[in-house]
Amino acid sequence: MTARKSYAEQRTVDLGFGVWSVPVPIPGNPLGYTLVYAIESPRGPVLVDAGWNHPDAWAALRDGLAAAGMDVAEVHGVVVTHFHPDHAGLAGQVREASGAWVAMHEADAAIVDLMNGVSPDARRSFQADMLRRAGAPDEDVPGDSDGARPQPPAPADRRLRDGDLADLPGRKLRVVHTPGHTPGHVCLHLEDADRLFTGDHVLPGITPHIGIYPLDRDDVDPLGDFLESLDKVGELGELGALPAHEWIFHDVAARAAQIRHHHEEKLERLLASLADRAEPQTIWEVAAMMTWNRPWPELPPMLRGLAAGEAAAHLRTLEARGALRRLPGGDPVRFQALES
Ligand SMILES: [Zn+2]
Ligand SMILES: [Zn+2]
Repeated sequence: MTARKSYAEQRTVDLGFGVWSVPVPIPGNPLGYTLVYAIESPRGPVLVDAGWNHPDAWAALRDGLAAAGMDVAEVHGVVVTHFHPDHAGLAGQVREASGAWVAMHEADAAIVDLMNGVSPDARRSFQADMLRRAGAPDEDVPGDSDGARPQPPAPADRRLRDGDLADLPGRKLRVVHTPGHTPGHVCLHLEDADRLFTGDHVLPGITPHIGIYPLDRDDVDPLGDFLESLDKVGELGELGALPAHEWIFHDVAARAAQIRHHHEEKLERLLASLADRAEPQTIWEVAAMMTWNRPWPELPPMLRGLAAGEAAAHLRTLEARGALRRLPGGDPVRFQALES
């Protein structure tokens, strides 16, 4: 078992098949860094992800590429695995420095367009209403001054779909749509090297956050999508994984099966504890009874919000499988286990 190393111990590494890994720090985040990958091509390097939008991260990306003998001004394109700021954050700055295209799955590109079109105030009040409908007490609803959010990522110039080949002259980089962590998350299969860039979809030591937004939505099933996406990458065979965090590992399929098992167990436990309660439960109550890496009362409001997102995603999957129901017209919304 490899242990996660700090950012300070990370270096640019030549992986040996025309691909370099470049660690880019995520300031103030326990994840430490994003692994940006640079693929050599005759038209200039193509990056998989770009890193967090911060001057230190920009310097690390520029210097890390230079250590690989690449100039950031020569980047041909950036394929973003998903719209999160630790992946898409710097894509706009790379484009400005080099004229590179920025490509993203069409579903995440649409979210980025939405984010760029909504004022921070409108976003905050939408968020507060949503948290109340999920049963959050006042102290868990962020006020006006809390939590400066990062700038939305720059809009994509190219929209990707499942099965597309990225514009990477001389090589084969195929888009594998893996919704779940975000609706437009993609893995990228470097077919000529039997490697899969896994983004946040499959990580060696942790599992990605799977939430649902808004929390009380009943027309999508992100966790159900995620579990299917795990099977989908499993079916690609025994590929080497190039993840966006932690460390490079062998056999994506084995790890994907492990993560699937983890969520199936969590779903079972959740259903059992709901079946124990006589009263229907709000999303917040369900989140409080699940197991997190810290006891519920010790989780700060931001992390409670993420936990509630996970709880809501698991509830929605159980609902889609016919194991529980939501009470009609509830505000806050409540869930009840069905007799099996
Ligand atoms: Zn992410
Ligand atoms: Zn990430």
